[in-house]
Amino acid sequence: MGHSATDLSETRILLYYCFTPIEDPTAVMLWQRALCEQLKLKGRIIISRHGINGTVGGSLASCKQYVRRTREFPGFKKMEFKWSAGSADDFPRLSVKVRDEIVSFGAPNELKVDENGVVGGGVHLKPEEVNGLVDKRGDEVVFFDGRNAMEAQIGKFKNAVVPDVRTTHDFIDELESGKYDHLKDKPVVTYCTGGIRCEVLSSLMKNRGFEEVYQIDGGIVRYGEKFGDSGLWEGSLYVFDARMHMEFSPDAATIGECVVCGAPTNNFYNCKNDECRELTLLCDEHAADPCCGREECTAVSATASSP
Ligand SMILES: [Zn+2]
Ligand SMILES: [Zn+2]
Repeated sequence: MGHSATDLSETRILLYYCFTPIEDPTAVMLWQRALCEQLKLKGRIIISRHGINGTVGGSLASCKQYVRRTREFPGFKKMEFKWSAGSADDFPRLSVKVRDEIVSFGAPNELKVDENGVVGGGVHLKPEEVNGLVDKRGDEVVFFDGRNAMEAQIGKFKNAVVPDVRTTHDFIDELESGKYDHLKDKPVVTYCTGGIRCEVLSSLMKNRGFEEVYQIDGGIVRYGEKFGDSGLWEGSLYVFDARMHMEFSPDAATIGECVVCGAPTNNFYNCKNDECRELTLLCDEHAADPCCGREECTAVSATASSP
Protein backbone atom coordinates (compact mmCIF):
# COMPACT_ATOMS: atom_id res chain seq x y z
CA MET A 1 0.00 0.00 0.00
CA GLY A 2 1.36 3.43 -0.94
CA HIS A 3 1.71 6.32 1.47
CA SER A 4 1.37 9.99 0.72
CA ALA A 5 4.29 12.32 1.46
CA THR A 6 2.26 13.72 4.36
CA ASP A 7 1.86 10.28 5.93
CA LEU A 8 5.62 9.81 5.97
CA SER A 9 6.71 13.28 7.07
CA GLU A 10 4.08 13.95 9.74
CA THR A 11 3.90 12.35 13.16
CA ARG A 12 1.14 11.75 15.70
CA ILE A 13 0.37 10.27 19.11
CA LEU A 14 -2.53 7.84 19.60
CA LEU A 15 -4.36 7.49 22.93
CA TYR A 16 -6.82 4.66 23.40
CA TYR A 17 -8.36 2.16 25.75
CA CYS A 18 -10.92 -0.59 25.51
CA PHE A 19 -12.54 -2.82 28.11
CA THR A 20 -13.13 -6.23 26.55
CA PRO A 21 -12.43 -9.79 27.74
CA ILE A 22 -8.95 -10.96 26.72
CA GLU A 23 -8.48 -14.71 27.10
CA ASP A 24 -4.73 -14.68 26.59
CA PRO A 25 -3.19 -11.32 27.55
CA THR A 26 0.35 -12.60 26.93
CA ALA A 27 -0.42 -13.50 23.32
CA VAL A 28 -1.96 -10.04 22.76
CA MET A 29 1.07 -8.42 24.41
CA LEU A 30 3.51 -10.27 22.11
CA TRP A 31 1.44 -9.39 19.04
CA GLN A 32 1.24 -5.71 20.05
CA ARG A 33 4.95 -5.53 20.79
CA ALA A 34 5.86 -7.03 17.41
CA LEU A 35 3.41 -4.70 15.65
CA CYS A 36 4.84 -1.58 17.33
CA GLU A 37 8.42 -2.66 16.66
CA GLN A 38 7.62 -3.24 13.01
CA LEU A 39 5.97 0.19 12.74
CA LYS A 40 8.72 1.92 14.80
CA LEU A 41 6.19 3.20 17.32
CA LYS A 42 7.26 4.08 20.87
CA GLY A 43 5.09 4.49 23.95
CA ARG A 44 3.38 2.50 26.65
CA ILE A 45 0.75 -0.23 26.36
CA ILE A 46 -0.83 -2.20 29.22
CA ILE A 47 -2.87 -5.33 28.59
CA SER A 48 -4.92 -7.26 31.14
CA ARG A 49 -7.74 -9.81 31.14
CA HIS A 50 -10.06 -6.77 31.01
CA GLY A 51 -8.68 -4.93 28.01
CA ILE A 52 -5.98 -2.62 26.73
CA ASN A 53 -4.78 0.90 27.55
CA GLY A 54 -2.14 2.56 25.40
CA THR A 55 -0.37 5.70 24.21
CA VAL A 56 1.96 5.36 21.23
CA GLY A 57 3.65 7.80 18.89
CA GLY A 58 5.27 7.62 15.47
CA SER A 59 4.81 8.60 11.82
CA LEU A 60 1.29 9.31 10.60
CA ALA A 61 1.61 6.33 8.24
CA SER A 62 2.58 4.03 11.11
CA CYS A 63 -0.22 5.32 13.31
CA LYS A 64 -2.77 4.67 10.56
CA GLN A 65 -1.40 1.15 10.08
CA TYR A 66 -1.43 0.56 13.82
CA VAL A 67 -5.10 1.51 14.12
CA ARG A 68 -6.08 -0.69 11.18
CA ARG A 69 -4.11 -3.70 12.40
CA THR A 70 -5.13 -3.35 16.05
CA ARG A 71 -8.81 -3.24 15.11
CA GLU A 72 -8.39 -6.64 13.45
CA PHE A 73 -8.57 -8.19 16.95
CA PRO A 74 -12.32 -8.80 17.38
CA GLY A 75 -12.49 -7.26 20.86
CA PHE A 76 -10.78 -4.06 19.63
CA LYS A 77 -12.91 -3.64 16.52
CA LYS A 78 -14.88 -0.67 17.87
CA MET A 79 -12.06 0.87 19.90
CA GLU A 80 -11.85 4.65 19.60
CA PHE A 81 -8.45 6.24 19.05
CA LYS A 82 -7.75 9.79 20.05
CA TRP A 83 -5.26 11.43 17.70
CA SER A 84 -3.01 14.08 19.09
CA ALA A 85 0.10 16.08 18.21
CA GLY A 86 3.46 14.49 19.02
CA SER A 87 5.83 11.74 17.87
CA ALA A 88 7.80 8.69 18.96
CA ASP A 89 10.35 11.12 20.42
CA ASP A 90 7.87 11.99 23.17
CA PHE A 91 8.51 8.55 24.69
CA PRO A 92 11.78 7.13 26.04
CA ARG A 93 11.07 3.63 24.70
CA LEU A 94 8.45 1.09 23.77
CA SER A 95 6.91 -0.69 26.77
CA VAL A 96 4.24 -3.35 26.25
CA LYS A 97 3.26 -5.17 29.44
CA VAL A 98 0.70 -7.53 30.91
CA ARG A 99 -0.73 -6.39 34.26
CA ASP A 100 -3.57 -7.45 36.54
CA GLU A 101 -5.46 -4.26 35.71
CA ILE A 102 -5.27 -1.67 32.92
CA VAL A 103 -5.96 1.00 35.58
CA SER A 104 -4.76 -0.01 39.02
CA PHE A 105 -7.58 0.25 41.54
CA GLY A 106 -6.42 -2.92 43.31
CA ALA A 107 -9.64 -4.71 42.37
CA PRO A 108 -8.74 -7.06 39.49
CA ASN A 109 -11.19 -9.72 40.62
CA GLU A 110 -14.08 -7.34 41.18
CA LEU A 111 -14.12 -5.77 37.71
CA LYS A 112 -16.36 -7.60 35.22
CA VAL A 113 -16.19 -6.99 31.49
CA ASP A 114 -17.92 -8.41 28.45
CA GLU A 115 -17.82 -7.58 24.73
CA ASN A 116 -19.76 -4.36 25.42
CA GLY A 117 -17.27 -3.11 28.01
CA VAL A 118 -17.49 -2.87 31.79
CA VAL A 119 -20.47 -4.76 33.25
CA GLY A 120 -22.49 -2.85 35.86
CA GLY A 121 -20.80 0.52 35.36
CA GLY A 122 -22.32 3.98 35.31
CA VAL A 123 -24.57 5.37 32.60
CA HIS A 124 -22.45 7.07 29.93
CA LEU A 125 -23.34 10.72 29.33
CA LYS A 126 -22.22 12.86 26.40
CA PRO A 127 -21.07 16.36 27.41
CA GLU A 128 -24.41 17.92 26.42
CA GLU A 129 -26.26 15.23 28.39
CA VAL A 130 -24.25 16.16 31.50
CA ASN A 131 -25.58 19.70 31.22
CA GLY A 132 -29.06 18.32 30.52
CA LEU A 133 -28.97 16.29 33.73
CA VAL A 134 -27.95 19.35 35.74
CA ASP A 135 -30.65 21.46 34.06
CA LYS A 136 -33.24 18.89 35.07
CA ARG A 137 -32.05 17.85 38.54
CA GLY A 138 -30.21 20.99 39.65
CA ASP A 139 -28.22 20.98 42.89
CA GLU A 140 -29.17 17.38 43.53
CA VAL A 141 -26.50 16.33 40.99
CA VAL A 142 -23.12 15.59 42.56
CA PHE A 143 -19.89 15.63 40.54
CA PHE A 144 -17.42 13.08 41.93
CA ASP A 145 -13.76 13.48 40.96
CA GLY A 146 -12.22 10.19 39.81
CA ARG A 147 -8.65 11.49 39.78
CA ASN A 148 -5.95 11.91 42.40
CA ALA A 149 -6.85 14.78 44.73
CA MET A 150 -3.76 16.70 43.61
CA GLU A 151 -5.07 16.96 40.05
CA ALA A 152 -8.24 18.68 41.26
CA GLN A 153 -6.27 21.48 42.93
CA ILE A 154 -6.02 23.32 39.60
CA GLY A 155 -9.32 22.35 37.99
CA LYS A 156 -12.56 20.48 38.63
CA PHE A 157 -16.27 20.54 37.98
CA LYS A 158 -17.98 23.31 39.97
CA ASN A 159 -18.82 22.14 43.51
CA ALA A 160 -17.37 18.68 42.82
CA VAL A 161 -16.64 16.23 45.62
CA VAL A 162 -12.90 15.53 45.59
CA PRO A 163 -12.06 12.27 47.39
CA ASP A 164 -8.91 12.22 49.50
CA VAL A 165 -6.85 9.89 47.31
CA ARG A 166 -3.18 9.96 46.37
CA THR A 167 -3.53 7.15 43.81
CA THR A 168 -6.42 5.17 42.33
CA HIS A 169 -5.47 2.41 44.80
CA ASP A 170 -6.93 4.56 47.61
CA PHE A 171 -10.46 4.73 46.14
CA ILE A 172 -11.86 1.53 47.63
CA ASP A 173 -10.98 2.48 51.22
CA GLU A 174 -12.28 5.97 50.58
CA LEU A 175 -15.61 4.69 49.22
CA GLU A 176 -15.96 2.30 52.16
CA SER A 177 -15.09 4.95 54.77
CA GLY A 178 -18.71 6.09 55.13
CA LYS A 179 -17.76 9.66 54.13
CA TYR A 180 -19.86 9.51 50.99
CA ASP A 181 -22.82 7.42 52.21
CA HIS A 182 -25.09 10.49 52.00
CA LEU A 183 -24.53 10.48 48.22
CA LYS A 184 -25.75 6.93 47.72
CA ASP A 185 -29.29 7.95 46.68
CA LYS A 186 -28.20 11.04 44.70
CA PRO A 187 -27.38 11.32 41.00
CA VAL A 188 -23.57 11.09 41.00
CA VAL A 189 -21.50 12.01 37.91
CA THR A 190 -17.97 10.61 37.99
CA TYR A 191 -15.33 12.21 35.82
CA CYS A 192 -11.61 11.87 35.08
CA THR A 193 -9.20 13.06 32.40
CA GLY A 194 -10.16 10.83 29.48
CA GLY A 195 -12.83 8.56 30.97
CA ILE A 196 -10.89 5.35 31.65
CA ARG A 197 -10.61 5.71 35.44
CA CYS A 198 -14.36 6.37 35.72
CA GLU A 199 -15.16 3.17 33.86
CA VAL A 200 -13.76 1.26 36.82
CA LEU A 201 -14.68 3.74 39.56
CA SER A 202 -18.36 3.83 38.52
CA SER A 203 -18.65 0.06 38.78
CA LEU A 204 -16.91 0.03 42.18
CA MET A 205 -19.39 2.69 43.38
CA LYS A 206 -22.43 0.80 42.11
CA ASN A 207 -21.16 -2.36 43.81
CA ARG A 208 -21.02 -0.37 47.06
CA GLY A 209 -24.59 0.89 46.99
CA PHE A 210 -24.41 4.13 44.98
CA GLU A 211 -27.71 3.82 43.12
CA GLU A 212 -27.58 6.41 40.36
CA VAL A 213 -24.09 6.68 38.86
CA TYR A 214 -23.17 8.41 35.62
CA GLN A 215 -19.83 8.86 33.89
CA ILE A 216 -18.76 11.37 31.24
CA ASP A 217 -17.99 9.83 27.86
CA GLY A 218 -14.46 10.90 26.92
CA GLY A 219 -13.98 12.50 30.33
CA ILE A 220 -12.97 16.10 31.00
CA VAL A 221 -11.11 16.24 27.69
CA ARG A 222 -14.26 15.74 25.63
CA TYR A 223 -16.36 17.95 27.90
CA GLY A 224 -13.78 20.74 27.62
CA GLU A 225 -13.58 20.40 23.84
CA LYS A 226 -17.35 20.87 23.69
CA PHE A 227 -17.93 23.60 26.28
CA GLY A 228 -14.52 25.18 26.91
CA ASP A 229 -14.78 27.39 29.97
CA SER A 230 -18.41 28.34 29.49
CA GLY A 231 -19.87 25.14 30.98
CA LEU A 232 -19.65 23.44 34.35
CA TRP A 233 -15.88 22.87 34.25
CA GLU A 234 -13.65 25.30 36.12
CA GLY A 235 -9.89 25.83 35.85
CA SER A 236 -7.02 23.92 34.22
CA LEU A 237 -6.72 20.25 33.35
CA TYR A 238 -3.78 18.37 34.87
CA VAL A 239 -2.03 16.28 32.16
CA PHE A 240 0.58 13.55 32.49
CA ASP A 241 3.23 14.96 30.19
CA ALA A 242 5.80 17.72 30.21
CA ARG A 243 3.11 20.41 29.90
CA MET A 244 1.63 19.37 33.29
CA HIS A 245 -1.55 21.36 32.67
CA MET A 246 -3.67 22.67 29.82
CA GLU A 247 -6.50 25.12 29.48
CA PHE A 248 -9.57 24.86 27.25
CA SER A 249 -9.70 28.58 26.46
CA PRO A 250 -8.01 31.88 27.35
CA ASP A 251 -10.89 32.42 29.81
CA ALA A 252 -9.84 29.51 32.06
CA ALA A 253 -10.03 30.44 35.74
CA THR A 254 -6.91 29.93 37.86
CA ILE A 255 -8.29 28.11 40.89
CA GLY A 256 -5.01 26.73 42.29
CA GLU A 257 -3.28 28.54 45.15
CA CYS A 258 0.40 28.75 46.10
CA VAL A 259 0.83 26.68 49.28
CA VAL A 260 3.09 29.35 50.74
CA CYS A 261 1.31 32.63 50.03
CA GLY A 262 -2.06 31.69 48.54
CA ALA A 263 -1.46 33.56 45.26
CA PRO A 264 -3.34 32.10 42.26
CA THR A 265 -1.28 29.59 40.26
CA ASN A 266 -1.69 26.43 38.22
CA ASN A 267 1.97 25.42 38.24
CA PHE A 268 3.19 22.34 40.10
CA TYR A 269 6.82 21.91 41.19
CA ASN A 270 8.58 18.96 42.80
CA CYS A 271 9.60 19.62 46.39
CA LYS A 272 13.36 20.22 46.40
CA ASN A 273 13.87 17.54 49.08
CA ASP A 274 14.94 14.51 47.03
CA GLU A 275 13.36 12.18 49.60
CA CYS A 276 10.01 13.97 49.08
CA ARG A 277 9.64 15.35 45.55
CA GLU A 278 5.95 16.00 46.30
CA LEU A 279 4.24 17.91 43.48
CA THR A 280 3.39 21.24 45.06
CA LEU A 281 1.48 24.27 43.80
CA LEU A 282 3.65 27.36 43.96
CA CYS A 283 3.56 30.90 42.58
CA ASP A 284 6.49 32.14 40.46
CA GLU A 285 8.14 33.80 43.43
CA HIS A 286 8.00 30.75 45.73
CA ALA A 287 8.91 28.38 42.89
CA ALA A 288 12.44 29.76 43.16
CA ASP A 289 12.86 27.66 46.34
CA PRO A 290 10.33 24.87 45.78
CA CYS A 291 9.24 23.18 49.01
CA CYS A 292 6.07 21.27 49.93
CA GLY A 293 6.10 22.98 53.34
CA ARG A 294 6.50 19.88 55.52
CA GLU A 295 8.86 20.41 58.41
CA GLU A 296 11.41 17.79 57.36
CA CYS A 297 11.59 19.31 53.87
CA THR A 298 12.03 22.86 55.11
CA ALA A 299 14.76 21.54 57.43
CA VAL A 300 16.57 19.77 54.60
CA SER A 301 16.70 22.92 52.56
CA ALA A 302 18.05 24.91 55.52
CA THR A 303 20.87 22.40 55.93
CA ALA A 304 21.56 22.28 52.21
CA SER A 305 21.79 26.05 51.86
CA SER A 306 23.98 26.60 54.91
CA PRO A 307 27.70 26.99 54.21
ZN1 LIG B 1 3.61 32.07 46.69
ZN1 LIG C 1 8.60 17.96 50.70
